[in-house]
Amino acid sequence: MFTPHYDLHSHSTASDGTLSPTELVQRARAQGVDVLALTDHDTTAGLAEATLAAQEVGLRLVPGVEISVTWNGVTVHIVGLNIDSRNEVFQAGLAGLREFRAWRSEEIARRLAKAGIEGALEGARVFSKGQILSRTHFARFLVQQGHAKDMRKVFGKFLTHNRPGYVPGEWASLADAVAWIRAASGQAVIAHPARYKLSATRLRMLIAEFKDCGGAGLEVVSGSHSAGDAQGMAQYAMRFELAASSGSDYHGPEQPWLELGQSPPLPAGCRAIWEDWAA
Ligand code: AMP
Ligand code: MN
Ligand code: MN
Ligand code: MN
Repeated sequence: MFTPHYDLHSHSTASDGTLSPTELVQRARAQGVDVLALTDHDTTAGLAEATLAAQEVGLRLVPGVEISVTWNGVTVHIVGLNIDSRNEVFQAGLAGLREFRAWRSEEIARRLAKAGIEGALEGARVFSKGQILSRTHFARFLVQQGHAKDMRKVFGKFLTHNRPGYVPGEWASLADAVAWIRAASGQAVIAHPARYKLSATRLRMLIAEFKDCGGAGLEVVSGSHSAGDAQGMAQYAMRFELAASSGSDYHGPEQPWLELGQSPPLPAGCRAIWEDWAA
């Protein structure tokens, strides 16, 4: 029997990935992915191109998104899968987040200027081909200018809590993000739940609240999870009767340690989120 290969979390140049939607889809196909979700941050602008490219290479493209959420002061990402991107409630929600992003990018640049780094907004824009600016674009600019050695160091030096280019702020609420995804007939999934470094108590709170809001699943297998993380998150998915998802969180070939479609299978006992998808 044919078992399709799923990768349900990836980024294109529509947000902070470095491959165009077409290049991303082609690479996914070459890596043996049969079902790919494009999940750009707070935008669906890459979906039309990705859908066309997918038809050409014979891959199933799952229309997706990754929504930025603030939950009890922590930034949490909620992936939406199989969303109907024409839905107006959903699109209005994303538009609000992009407005906050635009203001935040100006504020990042102002703060970096105070720290002696001029021209960051224009510099970051050079790396963005889409309608959003993310910290990733600032990071690429800062590395290019020699302010940090690599993409890992630059976040810790400039772009995280208490660093010169960090801007606190409120993204969507958890309830709103899930509601927007559901308004667009999609399934909501907590992205890379082990990455937030929450205590067991707080992680249980997050998952319980997410489930109450109508959340569908947890990303059990993720490019940013260890094997142990995946086992742990599988336990949570089973305990909370949530489906399990799997995605690389691919951003481009500049991260050679991560590839599309190379994730390990879901741990035994999980109910895969794609189980009830029509063929
Ligand atoms: P933003 O949504 O604009 O705040 O940017 C968040 C993005 O920055 C994430 O989706 C990652 O792609 C990237 N990112 C966040 N933290 C790090 C890190 N420590 N190292 C490398 N990339 C990171
Ligand atoms: Mn990203
Ligand atoms: Mn994320
Ligand atoms: Mn992501």
